[in-house]
Amino acid sequence: MLLSCTGVRKTFGDHVVLDDLSLEVAEHEVVALIGASGSGKSTLLRCVNLLTGIEDGIIRLDGEEITNPKINPDLVRQRIGLVFQSYNLFPHMTVLDNITLAPTRVHKRAAAEAREQAMHWLERVGLADKARAFPDGLSGGQQQRVAIVRALVNNPRLLLLDEVTSALDPELVGEVLTMIRDLKGEGMTMVLATHEMGFAKQVADRVAFLDAGRVLEHGPPDQVLGDPTEARTRQFLSRII
Ligand code: ADP
Ligand code: MG
Repeated sequence: MLLSCTGVRKTFGDHVVLDDLSLEVAEHEVVALIGASGSGKSTLLRCVNLLTGIEDGIIRLDGEEITNPKINPDLVRQRIGLVFQSYNLFPHMTVLDNITLAPTRVHKRAAAEAREQAMHWLERVGLADKARAFPDGLSGGQQQRVAIVRALVNNPRLLLLDEVTSALDPELVGEVLTMIRDLKGEGMTMVLATHEMGFAKQVADRVAFLDAGRVLEHGPPDQVLGDPTEARTRQFLSRII
C-alpha cells in the first residue's frame, strides 16, 4: 500500500474527531473522502501530511511509519502534496515564485531546477503564459490550478486535495476537475475530500464515507453512492443529493 492509516485516533480536547480510523490507498488509486461537514475529512488529510499529530495509531507511506516521532516531518511533506480549499497563493509574488518558493527555500533545491520543474508543470496544465503574472490577474480556477502545480513540483508520491473546488464559482469548477482527472490519467495517487458526488463517481476508484470519526464504509463509487450498505451513508446521501 502506498498509504496506510491504521487505528488512527485524533482528539481536540474532549472531542474525538478520528476514532480508530483505518484507510488504505494503493499506488495509482484515487480515493474520495465523503461525509458530513465536521466528520473529520480535513483533519484526516492534515494528519496524513503531519500538519497535526495523532494520539494513537500508525500512518505509513510506502511502508514507512511516518507518524514515528523520529521522522523528520519536512522530509515526509516533500513526498505528500496538500492543496486546500483556499488557494493560499502569496499575492505579492508571481505565479512562478509562488510555485518555486517551497522547493528553493525549504528543500534547498537548486533554484534553476525548481524553475524548470515549475515551467514543465505549468506547460502541462496550460498555464505557462501565466508564469510571470500575479495571482490577482488570474481567475479563481487558474489560481487553484497553480496551487495544485505548487503541490506537484516536488514530484510527490501522494496528492491530498481538500475540497479544492468549494471556493470556486460554478463555471470555474470544471477546469480544476479536468486537471485532477488528467493527473489520475498520469497515475497520480490521490485522496480527495469532496462534496461533489458526481465528480467522486467519475474520478474515484473508491469512495470512503466518514462518519463518527471512522470510515464507516468504502467501495467502488457505484456501490457506495448508488447502493450503500450502511443506513448512515444512505441518510447522508439523501440529504445532499
Ligand atoms: P470536515 O473536513 O469533514 O468538515 P474537519 O476535519 O474540519 O471536518 O473537522 C472535524 C471536527 O474537528 C469538527 O468538529 C471540527 O470542529 C473539529 N476541529 C477541526 N480542527 C480543529 C481544531 N484545530 N481545534 C479544535 N477542533 C477542531
Ligand atoms: Mg473539511
